[in-house]
Amino acid sequence: MSSSEQVTTTNFIRNIVIDDLESGKHETIVTRFPPEPNGHLHIGHAKSICLNFGLASEFGGRTNLRFDDTNPLKESEDYAQAIMNDVRWLGFKWHELRHASDYFGQLYEWALHLVENGQAYVDSQDADTIRSQRGSLTEPGQESPYRTRSIEENRDLFTRMQAGEFENGAHVLRAKIDMAAPNINLRDPVLYRILHAAHHRTGDEWCIYPMYDWAHGQSDAIEGITHSLCTLEFEDHRPLYEWFLENIPAPSSPRQIEFARGNLDYTVMSKRRLKQLVDAEHVSGWDDPRMPTIAGLRRRGYTPQSIRAFWGEMGVSKSESIIEMGVLENAIRNDLNERAPRGMAVLEPLKLILSNYPEGESEFIEAAVHPQNEAMGSRRVPLSRELWIERGDFMEDPPRKFFRLKPGGEVRLRNAFIIRCDEVIRDDAGDVIELHCSFDPESRSGLPGAKRKVKGTIHWVSAAHAVKAEIRLYDRLFSVANPLADKETDYLEFLNPDSLSVIEDAWVEPSIAEGGPGDYFQFERQGYFTHDPDSGSGGKPVLNRTVSLRDTWAKLRKG
Ligand code: ATP
Ligand code: MG
Repeated sequence: MSSSEQVTTTNFIRNIVIDDLESGKHETIVTRFPPEPNGHLHIGHAKSICLNFGLASEFGGRTNLRFDDTNPLKESEDYAQAIMNDVRWLGFKWHELRHASDYFGQLYEWALHLVENGQAYVDSQDADTIRSQRGSLTEPGQESPYRTRSIEENRDLFTRMQAGEFENGAHVLRAKIDMAAPNINLRDPVLYRILHAAHHRTGDEWCIYPMYDWAHGQSDAIEGITHSLCTLEFEDHRPLYEWFLENIPAPSSPRQIEFARGNLDYTVMSKRRLKQLVDAEHVSGWDDPRMPTIAGLRRRGYTPQSIRAFWGEMGVSKSESIIEMGVLENAIRNDLNERAPRGMAVLEPLKLILSNYPEGESEFIEAAVHPQNEAMGSRRVPLSRELWIERGDFMEDPPRKFFRLKPGGEVRLRNAFIIRCDEVIRDDAGDVIELHCSFDPESRSGLPGAKRKVKGTIHWVSAAHAVKAEIRLYDRLFSVANPLADKETDYLEFLNPDSLSVIEDAWVEPSIAEGGPGDYFQFERQGYFTHDPDSGSGGKPVLNRTVSLRDTWAKLRKG
């Protein structure tokens, strides 16, 4: 990524970084992006990625990618690989790849340190009992009967927990802080639980696993993270984050700073729910183009540039909001409008015969790849006697403001010439199956007659040259803006049944058919499209509509 492209929107975190560098608190800043490898990344994670990597690179610092892999039951190496792939694709390079599991040994030592100082104890109650003693916002918690165990007994039990002597759930290690603390997170939080489960990296080495809170800040301290950026739900955990670091011999003092999650409407955005959509086959996979995952957006045709620009524009703050999907769509429109090669494709074909065009002949028109960017060169658009046009561009009995083709009417064929509709051919059922038209040779682009004005221009492809393609059109995955708002109803009830429609027999001009996954196009008058990975391998090309040319949703909302 070039430096001019970087996100430099002012935000409160950036201001903290500037202060810390100016005051000499830090010489350089170190951030981290800490995903749990329990699913694929989504567009919300991209906000955190852009923020962490963007800040560090703006100020000459560095960013680690750290897998927060403390729950072996939900995590896998496949997810870790997918996450690394997504971060790279977004255009970021991590300084070091780290894992919370790299620190299991150190975390265990530090837990023993707390035990030796009388600041942690083994509780032998079950999880439900412990939960029931937590108290509430208005009532203090209740102390465990095991809270007064001696240091010796705690050391003995904790080392035996680690050695594998106990069943899952028999004991936990808890910090001994304050059961009456106003902040519930300080009411003797659990540090370790027993879990006899193989970890995707450490195998069977451990049968006790640290809780998130015990792992996170300590991992930050080990890596020398200066600014540990996380989402607002961790604000109440900050006193605990700080308590841990104050009570162990921490090698550095990271500062936790919270910011608001990025949310989008008409979708859901937690890995847990996205996994549910995948597992129940409501979508074809994590990379289904309707998914808000990075993999889904990539397959849909989003570019890394558009996603970075989107989060750059949205900025970072402490107030929660739900961003309209249309804003994300505008980001990809803006990017592709500048860069996407143009081409013509007919999605709902109607045959059109140019009756005064010689039979058996054809020609190639040189058309601009991008009308505003000459450097992109030209493409050869084949033209012959039989064409396909969009069925919707013809009406037999149109309303007054219909400027496309009608019986006896004239229209310009994009990149070619003006035609007149002379005759409408029907089948036995009375449906229109063919139009016979004549073209005006004087009106060809480049000739003096090209200036002749007609009201409408339509796109077309040459029937003899066009390639048959499958086109997949996508709509919102959910039919309500916030599928989680109604607590009474399962959010799956709000899945939009029409979120995918497939057109089996569209026709695309050859320049479009030649592309492959990662190539994007503007189908003139229709929208932006990209080849799906299902495309190619000799079969019919398959193209996904990334986004239409205009925001039809904005109109719908206004009613
Ligand atoms: P999910 O529920 O989707 O799994 P998470 O927060 O549990 O979200 P993690 O893998 O733990 O997912 O997140 C890695 C980092 O990404 C964390 O620092 C987290 O705060 C951040 N993050 C996750 N979701 C968002 C979001 N919607 N907006 C901004 N940052 C996010
Ligand atoms: Mg999580």
